[in-house]
Amino acid sequence: MTTIDNDKVAMVHYRGTFPEDGEEFDSSHDAEPLGFLVGHKNMIPGFEREMMGAEVGEKREFTLMAEDAYGEQTDEAVMDIPSAEFPEDLEMELGMTLMSAMGPFRVVGITDTTIKCDFNHPLSGRALKFEVEVVDVRDASEEELEHGHVHGEGGHEH
Ligand SMILES: [Zn+2]
Repeated sequence: MTTIDNDKVAMVHYRGTFPEDGEEFDSSHDAEPLGFLVGHKNMIPGFEREMMGAEVGEKREFTLMAEDAYGEQTDEAVMDIPSAEFPEDLEMELGMTLMSAMGPFRVVGITDTTIKCDFNHPLSGRALKFEVEVVDVRDASEEELEHGHVHGEGGHEH
């Protein structure tokens, strides 16, 4: 029996909720199962740790603290950027998410001269609960190991 281990490709269906209120923040159940190459940082650290040794058909449920999920929020990830650096025709709104060369950020403050940008991951600082079902486990191909990610179903198409 193949079980989830380093250098295996795992396919899972999952549902993620906030333990405080049960609100769902993510789910794979409306789409294809998620594929990930185990041991190659495709997933948040606690997710892989909790799924190690699981076999096909097995269901696991666990709650991760922020440090095992998307990390704690840090003040360093919040930056004041001069308004002049943004396109003039861009209408800034509090709470909006924008893309930048440094990754996505949320607009958390607007003054006449600066935009306060929060680069913290939206799920950082939060405990996350996962319900996971293992759909498939297989050996990774050499190419997948070289690339560090899954090819084909549930993964990269290239
Ligand atoms: Zn690839």
